[in-house]
Amino acid sequence: MENPSDFSNPPMEPENITSVRSLRELVDLVTGRFATGQQPLEESGLVLEPQPFPFLALVGQSEMKLALLLTLINPAVGGTLLIGPRGTGKTTAVRSLLGLLPDVERSKCFYGCLPEDIETEGMDGLCPDCAQKIAHDIPLTFTDHVRLVELPLNARLEDTIGGIDERAAANDRVRLKRGILAQADRNILYADEVNLLSEDIVDAILDAAALGYFTVRRGPVNATYHSRFRLVGSMNPEEGKLRPQILDRFGLRVIVRGLEDPLERWDAYQRSADHRINPGAYNQQFSEITRIARQEIQNSIRLLPDVVLSREIGALGIRLVQAMKIDSLRAEITLFEAARAYAAADNRTTVEPDDLRAVAPMALRMRKSQFMADFLDDISKEESQIEEVLSQISAFKE
Ligand SMILES: [Zn+2]
Repeated sequence: MENPSDFSNPPMEPENITSVRSLRELVDLVTGRFATGQQPLEESGLVLEPQPFPFLALVGQSEMKLALLLTLINPAVGGTLLIGPRGTGKTTAVRSLLGLLPDVERSKCFYGCLPEDIETEGMDGLCPDCAQKIAHDIPLTFTDHVRLVELPLNARLEDTIGGIDERAAANDRVRLKRGILAQADRNILYADEVNLLSEDIVDAILDAAALGYFTVRRGPVNATYHSRFRLVGSMNPEEGKLRPQILDRFGLRVIVRGLEDPLERWDAYQRSADHRINPGAYNQQFSEITRIARQEIQNSIRLLPDVVLSREIGALGIRLVQAMKIDSLRAEITLFEAARAYAAADNRTTVEPDDLRAVAPMALRMRKSQFMADFLDDISKEESQIEEVLSQISAFKE
């Protein structure tokens, strides 16, 4: 060695250095990547239910089904929140989406790099590995199904965003473990009982969903992961409220009630019993129509970029939002994006007033804040009081 003083402060204990075979491995080690990049990505939140109840066999609940389909077609609606008591089929409905999920180009990379990231962020949008692959014409992706990733109720912030890999830490190696949000990239993330999750977890999920990426920092190690997922949350209002700010960040909100029609209830009972006895045979009856539905969703996703919402339709939507006295701009975003998805699902490229009408209740309900209404009311009363006092003072002066 020419200049041994350069190594006077080794970053790790000598026994760890012996486990590094190349500079590349050393870089991977200190930046939190897998040493070889070959280990399978751990998928702790992934649902692999072999025979979920078929979506097309669900009885009633048409608004819930519509909201879930719109979320599949257009992630820009900002996710769906299902609000209702226990036992109304919320989780069954979300899991039934498994059969409908279309194919997607999935990244082979730990960080989720995609070729389209170059369009939005230039080569900085890729990790060094993927930039190398692009230079050598090696594909970054493979075709895969969209998956359903469930956030376990007992998930900690560490599990959600990722943290120090404890197995590696036991060997004095510092590296990061992918969290559930990173696994959810290009998939659907289902957060059941979102009102029972801690606020930091809910904030992390909503931030990652809104931005499409997130950064984890743990001491000297940090990593940025992609998180472009479709979000579905559910909650039972009997078990706790959601803060209004959190509620506002969900795009569509569906009130899920128990079935009221006795015939529908009987039908629902029969179907779930048949499915329980022999799921394979039951699902077989729905396999062809499920395949067609999956194809239709794929077509709608492809059509969506061409769907235009005219100024006139926009003005109509804004009138509706203002008539409802809603302040949040998220109301328009969700209303318009859901209407575009609805038009795409109907194989059209222009949004019509009926599209707005179909999605308005789920886009606009529960967005008015009584607190803000009272607050603004108070402020305007106070301002007119100040005006009045001022005018009295100036009258006195004259
Ligand atoms: Zn990459």
